[in-house]
Amino acid sequence: MLLSSYKITRTLPCLADPEKIRVIAEISDEIHEVFPFLNAILKGCIYNHPALTLTIKKDGKLFTLHTHHITLAKIENGKEAEEILKWLKDLINETYEKRDKIEPNYSKGAELKALDIFKLLPGTNCKKCGELTCLTFAVKLVGQEIEITKCIPLFSEGYQEKRKVLSELLHAAGYNVA
Ligand code: SF4
Repeated sequence: MLLSSYKITRTLPCLADPEKIRVIAEISDEIHEVFPFLNAILKGCIYNHPALTLTIKKDGKLFTLHTHHITLAKIENGKEAEEILKWLKDLINETYEKRDKIEPNYSKGAELKALDIFKLLPGTNCKKCGELTCLTFAVKLVGQEIEITKCIPLFSEGYQEKRKVLSELLHAAGYNVA
């Protein structure tokens, strides 16, 4: 068994959908060894080998596995989070047990481009994020040099849809969106 236990340590509002929650669970063991095997058997994962993260997409939700913790996004409530964590624990352990029969997949999947981010920003070059243009902000966001929350207009009422898509894009690429 690779993963013995997990414990929910934080519950936060979900940026992608304010009516849902984001859950962080600390885990008892390092699990990154199983990531290339999960990447091989599950469709549509985003594997970031240097950062040791694997994002799994399931039923419109995003689960990001890190070496020492798991993040769940777009979750309804604590009960659903517990069910998903149990499912993930079983999946991790079963895949790890079968790893000798699985060809590991180290490919990254979809890669995030600054231009894709730029298209989802307000595009007003208002400088509230501290950058001269939205494009500079997009380049820094893709390089993880700035937080999405620095773009204050993106969190206003009129940009809800763009914010949702951008958050999903970042999650799917294995980025941490708080
Ligand atoms: S705060 Fe947002 S809208 Fe304003 S310049 Fe920065 S990225 Fe563009």
